[in-house]
Amino acid sequence: MKILVINAGSSSLKYQLINMNDESVLAKGNVERIGLSEPLLKHTPQGRSPIEIHGDYKDHVSAIKEVIGTLIHEDYGVIESMEEIKAVGHRVVHGGERFSSSVLIDDEVMKAIEANVELAPLHNPANIMGINACRNVMPNTPMVAVFDTAFHQTMPQKAFMYAIPYSSYEKFGVRRYGFHGTSHKYVSLKAAQILKKPIESLKIITCHLGNGSSIAAVDGGKSIDTSMGFTPLEGLPMGTRSGSIDPAILSYLMEKLDISCDEINALLNRESGMLGLSGVSSDFRDLHKAAAEGNMRAQMALDVFNYEVKKYIGAYAVAMGGVDCIVFTAGIGENTPEIRTRSCSGLEFMGIKIDEEKNHRKLGRSDWDGDISADDSRVKVLVVPTNEELMIARETMNII
Ligand code: AMP
Repeated sequence: MKILVINAGSSSLKYQLINMNDESVLAKGNVERIGLSEPLLKHTPQGRSPIEIHGDYKDHVSAIKEVIGTLIHEDYGVIESMEEIKAVGHRVVHGGERFSSSVLIDDEVMKAIEANVELAPLHNPANIMGINACRNVMPNTPMVAVFDTAFHQTMPQKAFMYAIPYSSYEKFGVRRYGFHGTSHKYVSLKAAQILKKPIESLKIITCHLGNGSSIAAVDGGKSIDTSMGFTPLEGLPMGTRSGSIDPAILSYLMEKLDISCDEINALLNRESGMLGLSGVSSDFRDLHKAAAEGNMRAQMALDVFNYEVKKYIGAYAVAMGGVDCIVFTAGIGENTPEIRTRSCSGLEFMGIKIDEEKNHRKLGRSDWDGDISADDSRVKVLVVPTNEELMIARETMNII
């Protein structure tokens, strides 16, 4: 069975066509600059060189038409006809409280996703455009929505409530939702598989460290707490996002800088985090290079990040009453041994100890499962590449 996975942004549309018989990726690609000048489709068929197609993709409908045309193209296609695609799985960022699992899309579900636009104004509208475009082009193909927030809907109330007037929860839905759920679910399941233990028996801390970063406490396969909150701004400091700060700073800075709500939002989302602290870059590769060359602010930014990761590991071990496994994933978690070392340093008292030789191994070795813990580490520390597209395809297959 072949499943198309779609991740639609406001001007982009990423796709993967996955053969669920062996979970191989038949083709993947991205349409960039939809509705803008010089839109471009980059397409990589399995085992062949990438190609670039320039077209007039004025909206998501024309983009998805081109994607389908490309997938069935006689030269660089990978399937004979659109009918081979048995279902489409869509990434949807915000499912609110309504969706605690993936769901088959119908008109009523679309209304509910639209109702969540308020909660994710930057993301849900783009996801909706992607779904509508696919429903338009493939009206007879089942579509499934897979939500970033769904995995965290198992959090108990004590973990998702903010201590502000209760009416803000009742009237406006202000609570912790958490994000990156598809990734936290995928890597926690994979960790249980690597450890050869039932997930129900494990207490896992999953560290999704990328341009956006979040950490989750996964107890017995269920998320019981996570660092992102009402929006993806809370928690760890990130590439350009502040993460958690004293909320009083907002009104103080708005007054001092004489800036509006939109401007303070932009400051916290786009000018803060690693970029704001270092003044160098939001990219961890640049930060490590600058720090190695003696840039003190780049080093300070990295220190702040590692310290926060460490604090969440401690907090979530306490929240779960123990920890069996820590997982590092996403761009930074998978590729940066220094971050893993520093985030776990000093945690030997908790039974967490990394083997530095293993920590510096390149991922993808067939003789190694990503275990970087020392032989005498009570807690297993794993590096697990995330695969949100595969998780979306699996969820989609389960639903249909
Ligand atoms: P993501 O959002 O998961 O794509 O992660 C982006 C972050 O991962 C950036 O800060 C990059 O510096 C970092 N990153 C991605 N690939 C690598 C790599 N090969 N080596 C080191 N850091 C990387």
